[in-house]
Amino acid sequence: MKGRVEAVIGTQWGDEGKGRVSDAIGAGFDVFARYQGGANSGHTVIINGKRFVFHLLPTGMLRPCKMCVIGNGVMIDPGLLLSELKELQDRGEDRARLLVSDAAHVVLPYHKTLDRARDALRGRGRAAWLCGEGMDSACVDKYSRRGIRVEDLLDAASLREKMERNLDEANAYLVKVCDLEPLPFHGMYEEALSWGKALAPYVGDASSAIGEAIAEGKGVLLEGAQGTLLDVDHGSYPYVANSSPIAAGGCVGLGIGPSMVDRVIGVVKAYCTRGGEGPFPTEEEGAEGDRLRERGAEYDALMGGRPRRCGWLDLPALRYSMRINGISSLALAKLDVLTGIESVPVCTAYMIDGEETPDYPGACLRLRGALPVYKRLEGWKDDISSCVSFEELPKQVRRYVEFIEEAAGVRVNLIGVGPGRGQTIIRSR
Ligand code: GDP
Repeated sequence: MKGRVEAVIGTQWGDEGKGRVSDAIGAGFDVFARYQGGANSGHTVIINGKRFVFHLLPTGMLRPCKMCVIGNGVMIDPGLLLSELKELQDRGEDRARLLVSDAAHVVLPYHKTLDRARDALRGRGRAAWLCGEGMDSACVDKYSRRGIRVEDLLDAASLREKMERNLDEANAYLVKVCDLEPLPFHGMYEEALSWGKALAPYVGDASSAIGEAIAEGKGVLLEGAQGTLLDVDHGSYPYVANSSPIAAGGCVGLGIGPSMVDRVIGVVKAYCTRGGEGPFPTEEEGAEGDRLRERGAEYDALMGGRPRRCGWLDLPALRYSMRINGISSLALAKLDVLTGIESVPVCTAYMIDGEETPDYPGACLRLRGALPVYKRLEGWKDDISSCVSFEELPKQVRRYVEFIEEAAGVRVNLIGVGPGRGQTIIRSR
């Protein structure tokens, strides 16, 4: 019997609370798999008051599950991966077997130098998506077919050949274009080899292992990072990530066929945030936006505490995500953050070029001119953070949830009323 495959993906600009949703439904799965992103993405999970920030590891590492997979679509910074693993082992919290795809590309120190040099040359603004993690330059290498993959870290000759060639090219750019010092091969090469040695016990054919697990009837959970509106193709390009966080990205980034995926769960935050630059029609720059930021702790752990831009729930954007991902179930996070607001604005349509439209435009230039049309829903004052059932929630809260369901056309099956593991209302699975 075929095992169940489900994907948990972000419907907004990331940071929706995907990590805790994966954690909340995780008991039903044997395999947890990450399929895209890298050092510039990740999840925060709080368990028994302990906070875990994973850039690369699947959240399933905190469970005694069969296997956690880092797929070929993830850009792996080997030093970062090893330090995440070590921290987990030191805290005695590593509970699953890790499998790292031999086909995943690696981010090496010269990629970081190149990213910083390119950013300096272009004069990037306040909210640069890149912060020198090397992701951009490693993606350039991947798509120009000169990338270095995990398999190369395990093969000294292959690594030497590729690294020498890539470093020559990187140094030509750094010296001739950026007027910087060249990077030495030695030191970097030996370090990369040592990472390969340390990772070797975890490396294998991830696609084949997942295929086998599905064939054996095991449940597989695909953990998306970032969000649909940051997708490199379907997000507000160029203010996007350098990968495909959408559900289809899960098939590409793990090597599984689309017909294997049984369900796509969309995670939607009860309001909206955006970490970096780019169009954000429902952004609230005043005191109400500050309030959302403070109450929702909207500071980016992965970006050195950078404050996130905050605003109201955007239903055109949600419907767009529903379509792009084929979402069949929603998880609503951080509903507790809206407690205390007298009436909560929800964007139901946009005004674009003087015309009202219910649709989110995929084209970034058109989105730039979108003005939100709001409907105000009655707010609530009661603390909902200890509610354990939908029926227990105040009627205004239930109305808020139902309003989202009507707009999205699917049921909200999971509701987050606080950051803790127990603060999730599960209506049905
Ligand atoms: P992800 O990348 O989508 O997993 O999002 P983050 O890692 O940025 O997680 C969002 C943050 O919100 C984390 O610190 C979570 O603990 C927190 N969080 C998740 N769900 C809820 C919720 O329902 N209420 C509150 N107050 N916080 C939540």
